Amino acid sequence: MCKICRGEDLTGITTLDVSSCNMLKKIPNIEGLKELNCSHCYSLTEIPNIEGLKVLYCFYCTSLTEIPNIEGLKILYCDNCNLLTEIPNIKGLQELNCNDCKLLTKISNIEGLINLCCTTCHSLTEISNIKGLQGLNCSNCYSLTEIPNIKGLKELECSYCNSLTEIPNIESLQELDCNDCVLLTLIPAIEGLKGLGCSSCDSLTKLPNMKSLADLDCRECRLLTKVPNIENLEGLAAFGCPWLNPSREKLNKVIILQRFFKRYLSINQLMNIISETTEMYYEPGSKGFYLLRRKFEE
Ligand SMILES: [Zn+2]
Repeated sequence: MCKICRGEDLTGITTLDVSSCNMLKKIPNIEGLKELNCSHCYSLTEIPNIEGLKVLYCFYCTSLTEIPNIEGLKILYCDNCNLLTEIPNIKGLQELNCNDCKLLTKISNIEGLINLCCTTCHSLTEISNIKGLQGLNCSNCYSLTEIPNIKGLKELECSYCNSLTEIPNIESLQELDCNDCVLLTLIPAIEGLKGLGCSSCDSLTKLPNMKSLADLDCRECRLLTKVPNIENLEGLAAFGCPWLNPSREKLNKVIILQRFFKRYLSINQLMNIISETTEMYYEPGSKGFYLLRRKFEE
């Protein structure tokens, strides 16, 4: 039971936490409320349009079918609301987390949105080209076939988007994670990209030459035959990549963390060491590497 069910006087309050109340069906319109947490209220069917509300946490409200278009709302977390079919176009909303909303089919063009997390929305087929968006995480959206070319986007995470066939050349992008996108055949040559995670992209045959790229994770990319500009990388994870040493088929477990010994060894020396080992471990915090000598079969 929460404050509302107990009938407490709520006049003048600015924040209210009624989370995990199983009895609550409806929230009254509380004047002056700025922040409301009604997460895990499984019976809740209605949230009123509370004037002046800035923050709304309503994840795991599994009976909720609608979220009101609350003018001035800045932060909305409505993850795991399984009956929600749409998110209203709340002008000025800056942060939206709607992960695991299984019935959502579209993210509308929410003016002012800066960060959007809509992972594991299995019915989602469309994300609008939201002007000003800086971070987008739409991993695990199986039905998504396209990502818009959002001008100014800095970080994009779209791992496990199994229907995605291409990534747009978003010029402003600095970080891209598209691991396990099995239909991707190409990564665009994004000039300013600093970090790229494209592990287990089963159809990826080549990587473009990207001058700014510092960190690359291309583990288990079985069709990749080479990595351009490898000398400039600071960090590389290449476990299970055939290009590392195609003449030695058994060498399939290699992790390079070049950044930690960049000043001691050249990339060629490094490659020689790696070709003699089966595995290389970095123990976080140990400032050192453990090289396991390759076991040659007689
Ligand atoms: Zn209650």
